[in-house]
Amino acid sequence: AASADYKNDPIYLFAKQFVEACPNRSGEIAEKAAADWLKTRFDELLPETSPSAIDRVSGYDRAVFNLSCKLDNPNTDRRIIIGAHYDAVSGSNGVGDNAFGVAALYTLLKTFATGSRFVPYDLVFVAFGGEELGLVGSYGYVNGMSEADKQRTALMINLDSLVFGDKLYLHCENKSTDIADLFKSHVDGIAEKPYRKGVMTNGYDVYGYGYYETIQGSDHTPFRLAGIPVAFFFSGNYDGMAYAESANANRCVMNTSSDNFASLDNFVGAEAVTRTNAVISGIAATFADSDFAAVCDNAVNQLVNLNLVYTRLYPKLVALGLSLVCLLLLVPYYRKLQKRAIMGTAEAKTSRVFSQPDAEDIFTFDK
Ligand SMILES: [Zn+2]
Repeated sequence: AASADYKNDPIYLFAKQFVEACPNRSGEIAEKAAADWLKTRFDELLPETSPSAIDRVSGYDRAVFNLSCKLDNPNTDRRIIIGAHYDAVSGSNGVGDNAFGVAALYTLLKTFATGSRFVPYDLVFVAFGGEELGLVGSYGYVNGMSEADKQRTALMINLDSLVFGDKLYLHCENKSTDIADLFKSHVDGIAEKPYRKGVMTNGYDVYGYGYYETIQGSDHTPFRLAGIPVAFFFSGNYDGMAYAESANANRCVMNTSSDNFASLDNFVGAEAVTRTNAVISGIAATFADSDFAAVCDNAVNQLVNLNLVYTRLYPKLVALGLSLVCLLLLVPYYRKLQKRAIMGTAEAKTSRVFSQPDAEDIFTFDK
């Protein structure tokens, strides 16, 4: 049937093969098996002289594993990191979160490793482990970067939970930075997140910076905290006051045992493939844009200052200061009101003492 054609798309096939080979990707042994499976697939695309590598990262009480490889541009040592986590929560197949993200990562590697496309950067591909344990793999990766590594990383692109959410969003630094605008101009079907600016909106969003500050945490976060610009592709529904994956309960599967192919086929279908392909071709088109290198290299200059005092405490101190000024102005006014109230009573008594008896009072004397 034509409606099932999406099941023959390479994106779908890769995600399906990955989940069937590695249905559980939680815990050290299962994670390592999944990293090994992905390494085999990655290395089929890479020259024998530069295969991918699995790095063990310790966090909490167990190890997690990052799989990475690099496509070298001999004319530069500046680079872009593209990442997707391959682990899943215990008891979930992690189809939306994040086998389709891994399929997108693999397809981007395939696109740039086997084609003759020019990208003005080295491209580093990372399949992160331990995301669901608290970004263990990505924090470990960033902790392992030298200052020079951080300086030469122009951008980190994170692909997580692309398909079950109602809409596809791009979280960059802000509602509108040059790099966000460039990506959005090339990715079909990207949604605009409602943008609520205001002092009372959100404790972290006083200036309405919005996008970086209020997103769900995923593997781009450690990079951003290290001063590296990020672009985070993530699906969901922000139309309500809070984030929901979907308005349809059947598509709210993240971190549950329902994040599987049965749910995908029943409630998402071809849209999963269309959307994932839009992300892949949108990223490739952005890389090919003649403005890309200039915009990408300037992205670091459009980062919001995340300094605690500036973004979080300073606006609150200003609000507190204004409240105190108002209070100081109100105290004398309140005193004045009090005084007027007392004088008002006194006036009433005084006027009774000195009031003239009216005609009726006078005539009653005669009776
Ligand atoms: Zn995820």
